[in-house]
Amino acid sequence: MHLVFASNNVHKLLEIQNIIGKQFNLKTLLDAGFEGDIPENQKTLEGNALEKARFIYSKLNIDCFADDTGLEVEALNGDPGVYSARYAGLENNSENNIAKLLLHLKDKTNRKAQFKTVIALIISGTEFLFEGIVKGNIINEKRGHDGFGYDPIFVPDNNHKTFAEMSIEEKNKISHRAKAIFKLAEFLKKDNFIP
Ligand code: IMP
Repeated sequence: MHLVFASNNVHKLLEIQNIIGKQFNLKTLLDAGFEGDIPENQKTLEGNALEKARFIYSKLNIDCFADDTGLEVEALNGDPGVYSARYAGLENNSENNIAKLLLHLKDKTNRKAQFKTVIALIISGTEFLFEGIVKGNIINEKRGHDGFGYDPIFVPDNNHKTFAEMSIEEKNKISHRAKAIFKLAEFLKKDNFIP
């Protein structure tokens, strides 16, 4: 089955292809002939995922899905949440985002946090939503060099390593994005969208 992933993030596409398996042929936007920015103006992860998928569906009229992820920190009332990518002001500046988060958590004993991914899928014009959550804790300083974003300061529950200390395979077994993708894959298989 061919599905377009409504994102320009190639790193993420590889991670998803790795999880979803070969029976799904994921296409990038470039493969599908689209170049340009995708709007992402909503105040929730669900809203953003839907906005991105609807935008690409309306442009290309092809089955597609989009995702949106945020890190929700309990002591910060769910921040940075939907604003995780640009928490410190600049888009995807992980170093600054982490520094700002650690500063805000400096005096907090409650370090609980969760990553949440929402996937919006559009098949023949019908919309479906899938969610994946991984709970854990924010540590005081960065550990590890793999992964991206907030990975060096997030230790998932029942683990001692940060996401940045795990291999991609280890992370993919338990990550928020993996859980949401598994749900997407199960749905597609169950409903016979693939042979
Ligand atoms: P996106 O919606 O997947 O682009 O994620 C928004 C932001 O959340 C990213 O820019 C990262 O800062 C953060 N983020 C998303 N997924 C992860 C992850 O797996 N590990 C660490 N940070 C992540």
